[in-house]
Amino acid sequence: MDKDFFTLSTERFTIEGRSRAGHETYFRIRDLGVMLDLGRGPDLAVGVSNIFITHAHLDHAVGIPFYAGQRQLHGTAGGRVYVPAEAAEGFRDILRAYERLTNTYLEEVEVIGVAPGDVVRLGRTHEVHVHPATHRVAANAYEFIEVRHRLKDGFEHLTQEEIHQRRAEVIEEYRWPLLFYTGDTDRGILERTEALYRAEVLMIECSFIVDGHQERAAKYRHIHFDDIAEFAERFRNDVVVLTHFSRRYGRAEIRDEIARRCPAVLRERVRLALPEPYQRL
Ligand SMILES: [Zn+2]
Ligand SMILES: [Zn+2]
Repeated sequence: MDKDFFTLSTERFTIEGRSRAGHETYFRIRDLGVMLDLGRGPDLAVGVSNIFITHAHLDHAVGIPFYAGQRQLHGTAGGRVYVPAEAAEGFRDILRAYERLTNTYLEEVEVIGVAPGDVVRLGRTHEVHVHPATHRVAANAYEFIEVRHRLKDGFEHLTQEEIHQRRAEVIEEYRWPLLFYTGDTDRGILERTEALYRAEVLMIECSFIVDGHQERAAKYRHIHFDDIAEFAERFRNDVVVLTHFSRRYGRAEIRDEIARRCPAVLRERVRLALPEPYQRL
């Protein structure tokens, strides 16, 4: 039995996955048709076509060849694995090595390098914006955005028919940030990346939580809960999901320690990427 596997529901999303530092992190968001990181290659990823890998550390990305192999086995074409641009050739090398070792072709999966500033189109209505994350290796954060349309101000008096006829003139496009996922990173992302504060749902790493582990967090380029508490007033998100807890901490310890340290302004909105009954403070 997998004690760390969880299902967490927000108003818009069902997030399934597991996330423990140095061991395994993956999330499936079926509502968006994506995986965020791939951990050690979970079965629930195999049917998902868009995989967003934040960085090359084993606990987030070693599942890529297994995913590719499973897609090949089931003849499921069209798998796209987005990775930091600096890591793309390395991941292609890994897949090529497996092709040689197993005398097979992993042609159903494409590795695509993306860098901060890039925009990936997801279907007709969604985009993924790539943001920088600071970690010990090249790392991306990903922001999932819905492209919506609305009537421009001043045209409320038009009939449906008139709106239809003058569509190009009176309808404007706007972008609504649904979800921001940091992957592994340090407090720099809280200082520099305004976008993380505006998404409906923020998934942010919080590897360390107790006193005495602040230096460890900084040294290994991770976030300590104190960093999040320091920026508490800036979060405008409906839900803030904390992920990637160190395995030093038990589940009850994580919930109780964060409940003790959490500023009031965040308390109702924080969720923990753990199974029930540990998700809420
Ligand atoms: Zn990690
Ligand atoms: Zn890492």
